[in-house]
Amino acid sequence: MALNKIQESSDGTKKLIFDKGHIAVVIPTNSLSKKSMQGNKSQEILNANSEQSKDEKNTVCISCQVGCPVGCKFCYTGKLGFKCNLSPEEIFEQAKIAQDIIGKKIQSIVFMGMGEPTLNLKNVLEAAERIHKELPISYNRITISTSCLNTLDRLENIHFNIALSLHSPFDKVRKELIPGAASLREIISFTKKYLDKSNNKKYVMVEYSMIKGVNDSEKDLKKLISFKWPKKMLFNLIEFNPSGNFQKSDEEIVEHFKQEIIKAGWKCFIRKSRGSDIEAACGMLDR
Ligand code: SF4
Repeated sequence: MALNKIQESSDGTKKLIFDKGHIAVVIPTNSLSKKSMQGNKSQEILNANSEQSKDEKNTVCISCQVGCPVGCKFCYTGKLGFKCNLSPEEIFEQAKIAQDIIGKKIQSIVFMGMGEPTLNLKNVLEAAERIHKELPISYNRITISTSCLNTLDRLENIHFNIALSLHSPFDKVRKELIPGAASLREIISFTKKYLDKSNNKKYVMVEYSMIKGVNDSEKDLKKLISFKWPKKMLFNLIEFNPSGNFQKSDEEIVEHFKQEIIKAGWKCFIRKSRGSDIEAACGMLDR
């Protein structure tokens, strides 16, 4: 596997493009806006929002497939279609090469690049174990993200962190945005089983891209906080990168969602977009 090209964003984010067309993104985490921060538990599940230290820390977002078969409506990778699964070696090497390039230890890894991990799970888990042992990075700093398809149960017994891409509290809207989406009932049931099996030692992260007029109404907010989510959930409200007819929500609305989710008893963070000027941000791989 060869690294073809490196691009660097004005915010310090680096995009690593490999020969098969897959991409890894290195996100320095000490230059984040303080506005995007609230709460004190994020680093337990995803160090991407940490501003604990003045020393630069880096999160690396890696890919498990080239293209993606899921075809989420708001995602450029989804529009590429599916090219192929990546082998354990090809997945591991993204993290290893990223660490070599920045010349210092990576703090955390997120499987949020190209592809849906549950559709290449054997290879993802093998690579994640190698990352844990050889880089090394602890289990609670490696996060596997899923769009929550009917393959969600495959993640029930894993000992890495989990991020669930929700994007709407309504099944009808979820299914329109994410073809093959599991129902909210299945997702909530999964979070309970996963947390029970971890003896409540872990958190589960909910990823919610804030899309104007699609999932940012008061009705969406009320529905989202009406569910009986376990207490050990973290909500990440993601600054959406405009795609096709989809636009990002207004900042006041995102802040309002955050405050109401916190009032309802859960941790909540706003994740600002990083690397959008080089198309390295969420949902922009590969445009
Ligand atoms: S959001 Fe994730 S699962 Fe959906 S198409 Fe994009 S890469 Fe695939």
